[in-house]
Parts: sequence; structure tokens; C-alpha cells
Amino acid sequence: MATKRTRAHSQPIALPTVEWTKSFQRQLLAWYGRHQRDLPWRHSSDPYRIWISEIMLQQTQVATVVPYFNRFVAAFPTPRALARADEREVLRHWEGLGYYRRARQLHRAAKVVVDQFGGQFPRDLDSVRQLPGVGRYTAGAIVSIAFDVSAPILEANTVRLFSRLIAFRGAPAASAGQRLLWQLSEMLVPRRHCGAFNQALMELGSLLCTPRAPRCQDCPVSELCAAFRSGEQDQIPQPRAKARSEAVNEAAVVVRRGAKVLLRRRTADERWAGLWDFLRFPLVARRGPKLQKELCEKIERHSGLLVGPPSRIATFKHGVTRFRITLDCYVTESADAKRKPAAGTWKWVRPEDLDRFPLSVTGRKLGRLLVGTQAR
Ligand code: SF4
Repeated sequence: MATKRTRAHSQPIALPTVEWTKSFQRQLLAWYGRHQRDLPWRHSSDPYRIWISEIMLQQTQVATVVPYFNRFVAAFPTPRALARADEREVLRHWEGLGYYRRARQLHRAAKVVVDQFGGQFPRDLDSVRQLPGVGRYTAGAIVSIAFDVSAPILEANTVRLFSRLIAFRGAPAASAGQRLLWQLSEMLVPRRHCGAFNQALMELGSLLCTPRAPRCQDCPVSELCAAFRSGEQDQIPQPRAKARSEAVNEAAVVVRRGAKVLLRRRTADERWAGLWDFLRFPLVARRGPKLQKELCEKIERHSGLLVGPPSRIATFKHGVTRFRITLDCYVTESADAKRKPAAGTWKWVRPEDLDRFPLSVTGRKLGRLLVGTQAR
């Protein structure tokens, strides 16, 4: 492939020649023209819709994102509509998608677009990069796809694809690896049709150059791929060290007072910041009087409320980052009708009104148990 050589992690790497690059661009774009998926954010070049899709697609599969995207842009069709919305409403539309910080940053960024750019999404890379939650990759994707500005991209799919194309055996997440792969992206992105080109890179990584068992026999650029030539496509890129998972026990407690239940808004320093939740805390005891004592003490410590004996109504298993959580769910009655909850944002809510509040996935399951329905 190459005349230029560089080093990353002491491995000599061959970077593409002009001929290789042109051939790659041509074959990739031709393949994309035939095989691109019909996705809702590809129906327009509206930078707002492209931005929403790019933020949703971070850490999330395309099939999961599609219905969320459709509902979100129907509810908030412009930056102005999003900026005007209440944060609770924005989080409600994000509920279940995870990584809620993305939704809060979108909301903040929409206000910046309105306040600083008159509601028009900025066109230049530097201005887009100033928006909350927008990094180098997202800015490059937005301006290339919406405005055909020649800007490089690098995300999970392209990291894998580029590493294989040049047979990069080092660690792609390390700074030397990142420098090399961004350099490659800059060299490859064409002056024209760069939006289609960048989408084609990600599409190839997503459909054919997959993490396991890449479909090299169907790949339009296999003749240009160094890993395919050397038979290393299954070994490249170097896998990341996996964080060891940890099992933990937690309790979620529904405190009732009359026909209402207690909700608390999670604070900025907590997991799922901005969402509403039932009381939730780690549990040490597993059964018997010790468990009852721990529950009552922690309910009082976290809410300031005295309660009757909690009874368990469900157990959910779920994962958050590296934690495998067993969540035991309890119901109890507030023992003092006048006592107010401790500091924080609390609300007494009728179970049938829980739909108005953004909850975590397990919080929503518990809420549905309370109203006795699984229907949304
Ligand atoms: Fe990926 Fe295989 Fe294509 Fe190389 S030939 S880019 S490893 S799918």
C-alpha cells in the first residue's frame, strides 16, 4: 500500500499512498451507494437531526436508536423547541436509552444554539465543537454529513476498520494509536462527498468489518486491506482489557403515604442524575431481623422518614457499567403523616402519574408493578 511509514507502539506502519486512497474512496462510495441502510436521520441534511442521531448513537445500537430518534424529533423538532422544553420532558423522551448525561448536554447545547446562533445550527467545525457534549468525532460527523465539509471522523467502527486496513497491532485507545488513526482519517477523507464517505466508513464497520467474524469475502475493499492479506482480521484490533465485573445488592423502596408514593430527584453527582427514583441504596444484610433493621435505618437516613416494616414485592437483576446488581424492591408505609422528607427534591406522586416522570429502567418496572400493568 505504502510509501510513507510511521511508528506507533514501535510497530512500523505503512500509511496509504495517493493511489491507494483514491481506490479506497471509489470502492467504498460505490459500495455505500448500493448497500446503505434506510435510516430516518438519512432522509434529510438537517444538522439538528444529524446531531440528535449522532449523540443517540454513541454507545447505543442503531436498532435501539431508531424509535427513540423518531419520538424525540417529533416532540422537539427544532433546536428552539428543545431549548424551550423542560428537562424532565427531555429525560422522559430519553428514558431507557441510558447515559443520561447525553440528554442533559443536548438540552444545554440547544440553549447555546438559540442564545448564540439565533436558533440556526452553526456550520463551522470550531463552533460545533464548542457545544456541550460535542467532541471531535461528533463535530466532524455533523459538519461533513450536513454541510459536506471535509472533516475526519474516528469512532468505534472506524477505529476497528482503520486498524485492520493498515494492520495496526498496537492499542487503538492509547494516545499513540489515537494519533495514528486520526492521521489516517485525515488522509482518507475526500474533499467532496465527505458526508457520504464518512457514513460509508461507519456503515462498512457496522455491517461487514464487525468486531467478531468480519465478512471479508463480501468486503469491497478487501484487496486493499493489510489485515486481510496477512490473515489477521480476527486478531486486530488488539482487544481492550475487560474490567472485572462485581456483584452487588441494592434495595429500591416505595414509601407510601395514603394514595401517593415518594419520589426523589437524583442529584448531579449520582448515577442517572436528573432522573426521578424511589429510595435506593446498597444492602448488606440478606434476610431476617438484620435485613429489616438495615432497611428501616437506611430509609430514615436517606429520607428522614420513619416507616413501618418493609415487605419485598419483586427482585430485578440488571447491570450498570461493571456492576451486576440484584435489586430487591420493597413497599412500606410512612409512619408519620406530618413528617417531611430530608433535604433534596422529593415529591409525593400518585402511581398513575408516574408516567410524567423520567425514571430508570428498573424504576419504571417497579412503577408499573405498582399500577398493576406492563403497558406503556
Ligand atoms: Fe474489514 Fe475484512 Fe474488509 Fe479488511 S477485508 S476491511 S478486515 S471486512
